[in-house]
Amino acid sequence: MTQIDQYAVFGSPIKHSKSPTIHRIFAEQTGQELVYTAQEVTADRFESAVTEFFRLGGKGLNCTLPLKELAWQFADRKTERAESAKAVNTLALQRDGSILGDNTDGIGLVTDLVVNHKFTLNGKKLLILGAGGASRGILSPLFEQQPACIVIANRTASKAVNLAGEFASRGDVNGCGFDELAGLSFDAILNATSASLSNDLPPLPEGLLASNGVCYDLAYGSEPTAFVRWGISHGAVSSLDGLGMLVEQAAEAFFIWRGVRPDTAPVIKLLNGER
Ligand code: NDP
Repeated sequence: MTQIDQYAVFGSPIKHSKSPTIHRIFAEQTGQELVYTAQEVTADRFESAVTEFFRLGGKGLNCTLPLKELAWQFADRKTERAESAKAVNTLALQRDGSILGDNTDGIGLVTDLVVNHKFTLNGKKLLILGAGGASRGILSPLFEQQPACIVIANRTASKAVNLAGEFASRGDVNGCGFDELAGLSFDAILNATSASLSNDLPPLPEGLLASNGVCYDLAYGSEPTAFVRWGISHGAVSSLDGLGMLVEQAAEAFFIWRGVRPDTAPVIKLLNGER
């Protein structure tokens, strides 16, 4: 008897993950037979859980907090974008039995901004708030859009300066603390801090968002985040949260595993309708 192809998302906490719903709809849409589950896996159990998953015939995994760096270490081979992100959110079993690691977070963000919301990044001045794993993951795909410049601002300024230094060969990029943003303005401000998760907001000076600028919070929730509300009150033409990014990164993972691209629009509409 042939076993149905098994996929899963590992993370902790994982109970509220939307990924099983997203991949179930993708599979129905594209006529792919597969099972996708969410499994609570802590960092100390990661290696044994992944090894067991693939030993039992698993075909692909998503890894979320706090496992992306461990997944990066686990992968036998990594894509260029996963290599520069130093984090992996997608593991895929290859024909030769090896495990490929990819990072689809950045392309998910870019697709949501550029394709779904028709915002051109080319030639634009971008500000990224935060210098953690998510910021690192989005930098390479953002540079591919050829922005005029990227500034990374972080609570711990030295982390932003170091991260900017790592990407200096890719384009005009600088790191700083929030207090150095006064007097600057940007066409797009991307919030990659985890401040929204505690309904908090980095300290942002007036005049930071250029006219016709957009705000994008990588975080998402059932209500507009503090940063989405900041964008609306500061005249953003669009002030978006990361739900579209979540669905787009899932679509990219689905494509890596199954070789077919699902239609993301109805899934984003459905999840938006549920909140
Ligand atoms: P990390 O823990 O790696 O980094 C957190 C960052 O937030 C650090 O730069 C930290 O600054 C900063 N920070 C935390 N609290 C505050 C605060 N109160 N004020 C200002 N800065 C703060 O997290 P990740 O990079 O992995 O995740 C960041 C966000 O991106 C999360 O909200 C996550 O949910 C979201 N995300 C969304 C995805 C999607 O698909 N939509 C995918 C991936 C991430 P410091 O260095 O000073 O501590």
